[in-house]
Amino acid sequence: MKKRKDRFEIVSEDLLARIGKLYTKSGVVRTPTLVPVINPAKNAVPPSSIVEMGYDLLITNAYIIKRRFGKEAETVGVHSILGVETPIMTDSGAYQLLMYGEVDVEPEEILDYQVKIGSDIGVILDIPTKVGSSREVVKREVEETLRRAQQALSFERGEMLLVGPVQGGMYLDLVAYSAQRLSQMDFDIYAVGSPTQLLKEYRFGELIKLIATAKMNLPVGSPLHLFGAGHPLIIPFAVALGVDLFDSASYALYAMGDRYMTPYGTIRVERLKELPCSCPVCSNISAEDLKAMPKAEREKLVAKHNLYILLYEVRATRQAIEEGTLWNYLEAKSRAHPSLHEAMRQLRRYVHFIEKYDPVTHVNVSAEFFYDEESRYRPSIYRYFLRLRDRYTPPPRKVLVLLPETSEKPFSRYGWIAELKKRLEELKIDAYHLVVYSRIYGIIPLELDELYPCSQYEAATFEGREYWNDIAWFIRRYGGFYRDLIFFYEDGARVPFQALVAAAAESGKRLEFVPIRKEKSRLLQVLEFLKASL
Ligand SMILES: [Zn+2]
Repeated sequence: MKKRKDRFEIVSEDLLARIGKLYTKSGVVRTPTLVPVINPAKNAVPPSSIVEMGYDLLITNAYIIKRRFGKEAETVGVHSILGVETPIMTDSGAYQLLMYGEVDVEPEEILDYQVKIGSDIGVILDIPTKVGSSREVVKREVEETLRRAQQALSFERGEMLLVGPVQGGMYLDLVAYSAQRLSQMDFDIYAVGSPTQLLKEYRFGELIKLIATAKMNLPVGSPLHLFGAGHPLIIPFAVALGVDLFDSASYALYAMGDRYMTPYGTIRVERLKELPCSCPVCSNISAEDLKAMPKAEREKLVAKHNLYILLYEVRATRQAIEEGTLWNYLEAKSRAHPSLHEAMRQLRRYVHFIEKYDPVTHVNVSAEFFYDEESRYRPSIYRYFLRLRDRYTPPPRKVLVLLPETSEKPFSRYGWIAELKKRLEELKIDAYHLVVYSRIYGIIPLELDELYPCSQYEAATFEGREYWNDIAWFIRRYGGFYRDLIFFYEDGARVPFQALVAAAAESGKRLEFVPIRKEKSRLLQVLEFLKASL
């Protein structure tokens, strides 16, 4: 068995997301993953079938097991109660505390019980924050949770990994405080508590704030669990902020309510004309047959289908991490529901934090896709701006030449800009510093354009205004390095001439505008102009 601190291994990363391996005494769990909640009394889908689908961690409730099986469970163990050998996580009854206001068990008692029934990952009996509680109450409960957390760590837990939950709900200062205190305690896994209400009400933007606040105040490298967040829509967003594990009963609860999951939301079973899925369940039945079935039987099938959808989402998210395209994936997903759009907007507010940990290079380099102005808020672009601001010095040339971006990239290798560069070199004209202005990156100096990610992107043509600010910024900042500034633009393009003139004036220079006409060769027009103005 690995030492405690080595129980979580990070294999690859994108944004704050990571592919990891969590070592438990019953085996290795690949993360990020969804952890299906198993009702130990009766479950819509047998736990062994869930494992067969490809889930490698289940969660069940030690409190319910204790009430139902008592001492017997200590003899047979939780694995044989569920009939699986895969790793099992147990919850402590905190959820029941949240729902019913009390549980008749002591924190130490339930911790001891989790160890005795052979749980792989145990959770302390914390006090979940209720939505709507006053700040005073939440503060008191957070303190009580921290006290119990401290106590739990001194408890002999053998090989069981232990989870320390952050509480505080929507009082973000209390969330931060709770996370800071917990980060000084040596938990194997940290968790973010009580988002259930937020998820139910589709308050995804607030959920992002909750997760980000906890993450910023916890040890970044430790595994992080999010309680009760099993909606396929929110999984990639939480993963992007560094969540590794989610437990959820959503597959069963939705099935009970006749709700059929899709990667883009849920559909009520009675409205299904088609089964828009090719999982083993949906491949063998029609929508009509499903609707005609007795409720209990249908519930089982829908639950199983829902599990397949969740697994699909987990795997698609992992693949995006491997490819370094998670932000692309989030942008595409954010169109599925307005509250996801809000989640995306909130996520952008943490770009500074995300950029700090986002790996600079990826093993599998893929082109970035840009859809609209919002794509410009990506950590990779934010990083590019920081570098251009803090680490860039223009080469010693007399004239700055600004050229409009082309579809051929890198600009210095393909298309007419590459040809222009070559011709100038052949003519031994070295007065000019060529830079390209881009909807995405603002300014790309030609000598940098082969560096990732400038050279590897595909951008839709969109009418934005904000990128002009970055172009103006570059002129303001670096204009003073040159004697002259020449701005080429496609004739008819909507260029904010005045703003650019003002930016040049601030650097003490005049900006000359030169239109490039469509009917003639761009290369020859620009080349002739540059040769003539020497
Ligand atoms: Zn299906």
